[in-house]
Amino acid sequence: ENKIYSFKIVIIGESSVGKSSLLLRFHKNQFSNKCEPTIGASHVQKTINTFDKQFQLLIWDTAGQEQYHSLAPMYYRGARGALVVYDQTVRESFNKAKKWVDELKTQVSQNVRIVLCANKSDLENKNVDIEEVKTYCEENEMLLFQTSAKTGENVHEAFMGLIKLLPNKEGEVEEI
Ligand code: GDP
Repeated sequence: ENKIYSFKIVIIGESSVGKSSLLLRFHKNQFSNKCEPTIGASHVQKTINTFDKQFQLLIWDTAGQEQYHSLAPMYYRGARGALVVYDQTVRESFNKAKKWVDELKTQVSQNVRIVLCANKSDLENKNVDIEEVKTYCEENEMLLFQTSAKTGENVHEAFMGLIKLLPNKEGEVEEI
């Protein structure tokens, strides 16, 4: 099949949860301990052959959007999928993640595909009960991945889990 499926994906979550790190891990298989604030809108274009299809992904990193109460429309306009990220060591970042999920559904579409990343799984001091998160994801029909941008655990799986959801059941791309 020669058709190329182009999709926009956004990575959303509170500041410092590891959004840029997850993208860096997925894109270049690298990790940095340094906290380098993203300046302006940063996005990565990536072509992936998988599930018998060729996907061209435009992946947007939030780039400081999290400091505002709402996402800028230019940021999520046209997005078909989102990785919503929280930090397992910071309770408030999960509360924030739920808020972003609501906002995506109201501002983008009820049909926007969302995968939740419970990031920093390598750290011991968990402050969010994962059972609560699992229940939340079941109720909202969202996939959940416990990721670590540091070790790489589940990062590829989370992105691929999202990509797999992008076309509809017939493998077609429909407007959402
Ligand atoms: P962003 O503001 O959401 O984009 O967060 P960053 O990607 O800049 O990460 C914030 C800080 O958390 C940086 O110091 C990263 O090195 C660190 N970090 C990101 N992901 C992980 C992870 O999975 N495990 C650990 N231990 N640290 C992480």
